[in-house]
Amino acid sequence: MNRERRVLRLARGVQGRGLRPSIARIATAATLTGSVRNTRAGVELVLEGEATAIDRAVRQIEATEACDVVTVSSERAAVTSSAFVIADSDERDAPSIDAIVLDRRICAACTRELEHDGRRAGYALNACVECGPRFTAIEALPFDRARTTMRSFGPCPACEIEYRSLDDRRAHAQMIACPTCGPQYSLRGADRRSIAVGAAAIERAIEAIARGEIIAMLGVGGFQLLCDGRDARAIAELRRRKRRPHKPFALLVESAEHAAALAHIDAVERAALESPAGPIVLVRKRGDAVLAEVAPGLARVGLLLPTSAAHALIARAMGGPVVCTSGNAQGEPVVTDVEASFDALAGIADGWLVHDRPIAQRADDSVVQVVDGRARVRRVGRGMAPLSFEVGGVDRLCVGAHRDVSPVLVVRGTAWQWPYVGAMDTRAARAAFARAVRAMCELSERTPLEYVCDAHPDYATTQWAEQRSPVVTRVLHHHAHVAATLAEHGARSALGFAWDGTGLGPDRSLAGGEVLSVSEGGARWVARLRPFALVGGDAAARDGRRAYVGAAREAGAEIEAALAPLAALCECDAFAPRSSSVGRLFDAVAFALGLCERGTYEGHAAMLLEAIALGDDAAPYPFRIDGSTIDWRELWHGVLRDRADAPLAAARFHRSLVAVIEAVCQRHDSPVVALAGGCFNNALLLERATHRLRERGRVVLSAERVPAGDGAIALGQAWVSATEARQRVVAL
Ligand SMILES: [Zn+2]
Ligand SMILES: [Zn+2]
Repeated sequence: MNRERRVLRLARGVQGRGLRPSIARIATAATLTGSVRNTRAGVELVLEGEATAIDRAVRQIEATEACDVVTVSSERAAVTSSAFVIADSDERDAPSIDAIVLDRRICAACTRELEHDGRRAGYALNACVECGPRFTAIEALPFDRARTTMRSFGPCPACEIEYRSLDDRRAHAQMIACPTCGPQYSLRGADRRSIAVGAAAIERAIEAIARGEIIAMLGVGGFQLLCDGRDARAIAELRRRKRRPHKPFALLVESAEHAAALAHIDAVERAALESPAGPIVLVRKRGDAVLAEVAPGLARVGLLLPTSAAHALIARAMGGPVVCTSGNAQGEPVVTDVEASFDALAGIADGWLVHDRPIAQRADDSVVQVVDGRARVRRVGRGMAPLSFEVGGVDRLCVGAHRDVSPVLVVRGTAWQWPYVGAMDTRAARAAFARAVRAMCELSERTPLEYVCDAHPDYATTQWAEQRSPVVTRVLHHHAHVAATLAEHGARSALGFAWDGTGLGPDRSLAGGEVLSVSEGGARWVARLRPFALVGGDAAARDGRRAYVGAAREAGAEIEAALAPLAALCECDAFAPRSSSVGRLFDAVAFALGLCERGTYEGHAAMLLEAIALGDDAAPYPFRIDGSTIDWRELWHGVLRDRADAPLAAARFHRSLVAVIEAVCQRHDSPVVALAGGCFNNALLLERATHRLRERGRVVLSAERVPAGDGAIALGQAWVSATEARQRVVAL
């Protein structure tokens, strides 16, 4: 008999989803002995018995659990144990990101349970081994109840029996709970007094939403603000109170069928909506099925399915879409603490629907859009973060840039990317950043040896890193953008287009229309958009008039008398530094076409321009590639000529940028092209450019698991800082 003792390890994200009981069932059925347990490095499995039976069991585990099983060691051995057991967690290993489990949206079985008359009927925090909070509740590793924010809720006898029964769907569910023993929701007024508790709290909150009120609800990774998605007055009020006049709101809907009534949803989009991560998915609106107030001027709307049981109960009771947006004041991070929420959301919410399970890790809702058949993350949050990538090098902390900060800690060569924190404009945002960093260091039990930041000296993250160490590695913004794409795809070199709003260029200029060749030997700039004057520099962001005046002046176009004073300021370099930003060129074109005088959120003008673009076969405007300069002046005159037909001009403008990318690629024979930076959040631009380059035989890399915008900068910094060689830069 060929008896064997095999030690195996399961890859990433497998703790905390009922894997151990499932493995125990498979092993027992195969008459194997041994054990399975959580360790701080992942799930460890020991199988003892016939080699062929072990092989079969491993194949079955891989198939039923959709995971990879890696053999650590195997030896011929006399069988040492008499049964298969779920062993206590091992706390000795070094913590690994493999042991961090992601939050999973409520499963179908738990949703059904809400309606039945069992003991969990209507329980707004219902969850099981397949679903519920994970990462957001983790205080330490490995993932066991005692190290989560559920530790203060001891299971009742009924839950205890389910936990111990291998056949129960809550067998070994670390977060097991019920209305008797688990956390509870309560509805509270602005004066913090409790209005209702448990099921009554949910009912009263639903009544308030139906009356047109705004409810601050504590979800899985922090607060959200809810109001009736069919009530234009309530939505307008939420916009007024949040001081958010135009930025789109996401809508919570009960099911994929409800989503399909509001928007056109293809198979990939549906899969993203229904995935365990349960992100907000940006989909194309169906006629006027969605109130214009939800996503003003945009062709797409963000939809999400219920994240938790509370969301499911509210969505079902409301019957139609419910606005579900981040619970924060303008510019602040999402609020996670109940007591702090009364001040932070004062004047915004009418009522507070809160529960008593603390949020250990902040995670805003993730946002995804399907472009070119692939789900691409726009914001890394709940259900998706932390992410991991292999980058190598010493333990170090990469802090990102200024907007969409999503820090990365490199531990033993693996980059752990934390959820999106936001822009570092406010004290609260900077505190949230520091808290995220502290959590990363605590969970990994690592202190970074080095700090890596953006080259921009004024970013709060740069200054934060400089305060911690006299030796920091500074990575140029656009180098990091392209590097992030390489890191994500495990590529070694590419011709990279880094197009965004702004970042510090190698010559200290305001850059954002960069083309650079990035490899493991460093970065070499090869081309750039012809720069134009921007009154106020960085402060010109979102001000369409300033971008317009600068662009028009550069192109030698006539400038309207009303804008003459602004144009005069362009003469002075100190007032109006020159910028090569493609993002600002989008702002200028949107203003020229009368779409957007002043954007009120990141990418606003570009999104309006994309939304109206009409005409698949629109011809590009003429432009020139003059050495290393992308000269867009003729293109500008083309836009002005078509001013009367804004949808055509918008389409031709997009088409022109695709033609620019093709033309630059033609001059450089790199087989791999990376499209990076916030401008490639534009689906029209990304999809067209990708198709055209593929037709010409290029491999095109673009952001999928990390955002195209500044949410990718920390990862790019991690890739660049892995070796000295990668940090070398050759400017134009
Ligand atoms: Zn469940
Ligand atoms: Zn219980």
